[in-house]
Amino acid sequence: MTSQNTPRTVSNPSFPQSIILDKWEDAGFSWEGEVTPMLFPRLLELVDTNHRKTAINLCCKLEKRDNVTWLSMSFDGALWVICQRCLQPLDIELDYEEKLALLYDESQSSLLDDEIDYVLLDEVISTQQHQRLLPLAELVEDELLLNVPLSAKHEDCEMMVAQVGDIPEDEESDNPFAVLAGLKEQLSE
Ligand SMILES: [Zn+2]
Repeated sequence: MTSQNTPRTVSNPSFPQSIILDKWEDAGFSWEGEVTPMLFPRLLELVDTNHRKTAINLCCKLEKRDNVTWLSMSFDGALWVICQRCLQPLDIELDYEEKLALLYDESQSSLLDDEIDYVLLDEVISTQQHQRLLPLAELVEDELLLNVPLSAKHEDCEMMVAQVGDIPEDEESDNPFAVLAGLKEQLSE
């Protein structure tokens, strides 16, 4: 029997928690492979227990262009969270790219298009032995967390009609009286 406390088996130990910004900022850095929710503690809390090791394909790229450092991330896979209505697993499909500008100064943002998302490096980097560390895993985790709705629910959750006294207004097509009327018709046939 395996204990609940057996060490977690991370299938992708090569994904770096952080990278040395001074080393990679000019040279450019990229990483491609599979990650799992196991790598992201904040995300893990929201993920269905049976899907903690479900792989997500991730591609990360750090590069400097026009004096701005960009972090591109592309995701392909699914996040399995818990439906807040029926408490069963619910999958959120991930298949998209996101580009984040890493800025030294808020004033740099005026040079970017309005739709560009950015983070201020001062707010995310830490220093270790005089080297600046970019928390790559945390930035990826932030992005993944944005995909999880505050109150995730199946679009066609089966709990909908079983719930008593809490039928949302937008579900009038599932009107219980209409269902009753349908049953009556069937019985009288
Ligand atoms: Zn549900």
